[in-house]
Amino acid sequence: MYRKKILIAFAIVILAIPKMQAQTKAGNSSNMQVARPKLVVGIIVDQMRWDYLYRFYNVYAPNGGFKRMLNQGFSCDNTLMPYVPTVTAVGHTCVYTGSVPALTGIAGNNWFDNNTLKSVYCTDDASVATVGSNTKAAGEMSPRNLWVTTVTDELRLATNFNSKTIGISIKDRGAILPAGHAANAAFWYDYQTGNFISSTYYMNQLPEWLTQFNNKKWVDNYYEKNWAPILPKSTYEALCDVDENIYESKPFGKEEKGFPYDLSKFKGKDYSKIASTPYANDLLENLAETTLANEQMGKGNNTDFLAVSFSSTDYIGHSFGPNSWELLDTYARLDKTLGKLLDYLDKTIGKNQYTIFLTADHAGAQIPEFLAKHNIPGGRADDRDLMKELNQHLASQFHQSNLINAIWEFDVYLNHGLIDSLQLNEGAIEKSIAQFLQKDERVLTVVNKRKAATAALPVNIREMIVNGYTPKRSGDLQIVMKSGVMDAGKTGMSHGVSYTYDTHIPLLWYGWGIRQGHLNKTTYMTDIAATLAALLKIQMPSGCIGQPITEVYQ
Ligand SMILES: [Zn+2]
Repeated sequence: MYRKKILIAFAIVILAIPKMQAQTKAGNSSNMQVARPKLVVGIIVDQMRWDYLYRFYNVYAPNGGFKRMLNQGFSCDNTLMPYVPTVTAVGHTCVYTGSVPALTGIAGNNWFDNNTLKSVYCTDDASVATVGSNTKAAGEMSPRNLWVTTVTDELRLATNFNSKTIGISIKDRGAILPAGHAANAAFWYDYQTGNFISSTYYMNQLPEWLTQFNNKKWVDNYYEKNWAPILPKSTYEALCDVDENIYESKPFGKEEKGFPYDLSKFKGKDYSKIASTPYANDLLENLAETTLANEQMGKGNNTDFLAVSFSSTDYIGHSFGPNSWELLDTYARLDKTLGKLLDYLDKTIGKNQYTIFLTADHAGAQIPEFLAKHNIPGGRADDRDLMKELNQHLASQFHQSNLINAIWEFDVYLNHGLIDSLQLNEGAIEKSIAQFLQKDERVLTVVNKRKAATAALPVNIREMIVNGYTPKRSGDLQIVMKSGVMDAGKTGMSHGVSYTYDTHIPLLWYGWGIRQGHLNKTTYMTDIAATLAALLKIQMPSGCIGQPITEVYQ
């Protein structure tokens, strides 16, 4: 017995030696300090489907961004989103918190507040004011509706607020939610003036360098270039649908007939149109370089964090769809833009001295009429039309109008105040709604969100509804549509549901601490913040439910 114990002890010592050596090596290389990169750049490409990495692979340049990140970095090729609704605000929140609406409170881009009975925009904050322009509503924004910490908050906490964290995007929510509560700054685009702005939540005045940047009126320079395809015509023909289709939207005016687009007519007149062109990505990359340089990011003793979210990919996707010439052209250009950013970082921060991750806030569906041309199912169902139909149906059954308060992303908010005051039977109303919707060819099923955990659906779909449900800000019934059915107007496409075309996102890692390789095992959007926190050796965000993807580490 005694001998056996000695043998076991000996075996433990032998087994522990390689581990001890590994620890000593890591300790030496970091010079007795915690080893961290100088800078983290988080890139979200709004509405980027995972398959764009490979569908357009041959179009990407060797010195562009995508091939460099794919071939020298690490790609998690099967990254899924674990909640509905799969929309921008929730996606940006999930990437940076590792968490879901059930805990974060960011239940959608918009939601209906069940206490105040008002519609709320995700980053609305009437207690703060615009900084950097006179557009009142554009800057009444902050992250106060977010209930948990972000990985950027945790980095600030971990370094006694010596790390600098800044979020930039065309969309307000794309800058504010990633930057977190304790951010040094968030800057977003004012569609009225063409300025990048902020709010008094962060500062009372824009930094001088940003005022100078705004004064250059970059947007007018981009408009002058107009938008013509950058690839040979045969490439678009080989990879896309025909250029012009009646099912595409026309963001540049009804008279436009496909490529090339005249943008010079917007010069000095309309600063919103740039968002629907690839130039908004160039404008943002320009701002990224300017921010890094002027804020001395990646130059101090603590890790800094720049969160960049490219929005025009989403606007262009919505208008023209994943199989359009416009979308392919946008990704061919974004590849170059990302390559430029990597070159800049290599030059100013140093190769392998910074860590980048690139992902999306959600993916997106093909245009239903494009799918129909190829006999693939799909369809359209407008939330507002559904609400009207349902309220009419309920009025005929219960002799009361407006029993539904709102429908956002197929999430039905019952009018509880009215139902209670009239002492109507809520269960009977829910049953009536479900029965009515079951007759609709586009509907798969209707789920009572409070009972979603036991709904008769595959477990991952059930879980997505549970994860997306938060009582104060969510509706009561989730309408689950059939595959391909989207909440979109008469043209273009959308996203927001639980099918893989909306939930399968790219996830690339590159630079300091990152191994070269790829992974086909399923990973989740919630794992991104956990992976970052472990890489940076900081506390994971407070609501994080993800796991570190250990395969990415060197
Ligand atoms: Zn979108």
